[in-house]
Amino acid sequence: MQDLLPRQKEVFRFIEDKARAVLYSYGYQEIGLPVIESTHLFSRVVGENTDIVEKEMYSFDDRNGESLTLRPEGTAGTVRLAEENGLTFNQIQRFWYAGPFFRYERPQKGRYRQFEQIGVECFGMPGPDIDVELMFMTSRLWQELGISGDLRLELNSLGTAESRARYRTALRDYLSAVKGELDEDSLRRLDSNPLRILDSKVEKTQDLLKGAPLLGEFLDPDSTEHFEQLCRLMDKRQLPYVVNPRIVRGLDYYNKTVFEWITDSLGAQGTVCGGGRYDGLVEQIGGKSTPGVGFAMGLDRLALMLEPNFGGGRQTDVYVAAVGDNARERALLLAEDIRDLSPSITVLVNCGGGKFKSQLKKADASGASLALILGEDEVANGQVTVKHLRESGEQKLISSDGIGKYLTENLQKE
Ligand code: ATP
Ligand code: MG
Repeated sequence: MQDLLPRQKEVFRFIEDKARAVLYSYGYQEIGLPVIESTHLFSRVVGENTDIVEKEMYSFDDRNGESLTLRPEGTAGTVRLAEENGLTFNQIQRFWYAGPFFRYERPQKGRYRQFEQIGVECFGMPGPDIDVELMFMTSRLWQELGISGDLRLELNSLGTAESRARYRTALRDYLSAVKGELDEDSLRRLDSNPLRILDSKVEKTQDLLKGAPLLGEFLDPDSTEHFEQLCRLMDKRQLPYVVNPRIVRGLDYYNKTVFEWITDSLGAQGTVCGGGRYDGLVEQIGGKSTPGVGFAMGLDRLALMLEPNFGGGRQTDVYVAAVGDNARERALLLAEDIRDLSPSITVLVNCGGGKFKSQLKKADASGASLALILGEDEVANGQVTVKHLRESGEQKLISSDGIGKYLTENLQKE
């Protein structure tokens, strides 16, 4: 689990702010999910034979002996929330959430045991239009973040549960014939979840897969039509994408559309956003049949992409320096007056004393454009000395009453 230092946190905040603005502009509503849910919910929704449930969950028994799990993903919780609150059947919903998620994985660049996701889940819309909206929306966000050039969209259709089952059999038959050459992980998956083998990072396994049957050959007519319409709409806006028949996603609940946004700039951890359709999920947890579609993006990976070129977020505008007991008191009060007048100005007060010289060094290092200086004389005369730190100007004495006006006029110019 990683610590986020101020600069990293600023990058995360920047991404979140941009994402929130884009999500609101599409009419998506934020929900809050518990960080802990019943273990049963995840094994049922995500699937017993997935990586997540098999080996990545942080589960524990509470004082009642009930098994609980730190959420490894957000779709299960959202579906539960929607169902429990009567928000699915015969309704249209566009939800989003943000926060920490937990998976027991091997930590490496772009892969942590606690990571941040922003997720989106939509209910009640069966057609490809909403799928396309999600891709337009994410694409818009990459543009806002200035990383669209580094990301490509890969799409696939998984068809219905039935067509996937037929494909699973065909793939298992094909791979069983070359069983002896499969890597250990893939061999284990051959019976439980052969589709996951398509995701294997082992080169030899990827070579074996070259002649394997493709999922697309097993699609039902409805899924084919859905996928064709989706591609047609994408082409109309000329949003580039690649159809990648190998994309299956690691969770059991998907059907029809699945997609990933991928970068080559982060090594093996290249997927920054992934999602798809899960039309059977609400029914599976006991609700009335309701189509669903969603995605989740990983903020940690997006932050790694943005960090090298991140110019910094909030800057200090004004540094208040003061020497002498009265002046130090006055500095705190003056800073409050400024904040009352102009809440958008960032004021940093020199707390902790020090000589003027060292205080002005700190003022300079803070990046502030103005220093306000208070000594015993200024306090006695109800004045403040103003020093422009980014230009060689005279210091000025102005009256404390006029400081608000002075700052509004002078900070706007810079
Ligand atoms: P991967 O193939 O990289 O393991 P995944 O398919 O397990 O990803 P999802 O469950 O689809 O990932 O989660 C959506 C996004 O959340 C991922 O694309 C990624 O950006 C991010 N993510 C998932 N697991 C982690 C992790 N352990 N650390 C950091 N980010 C993660
Ligand atoms: Mg994973």
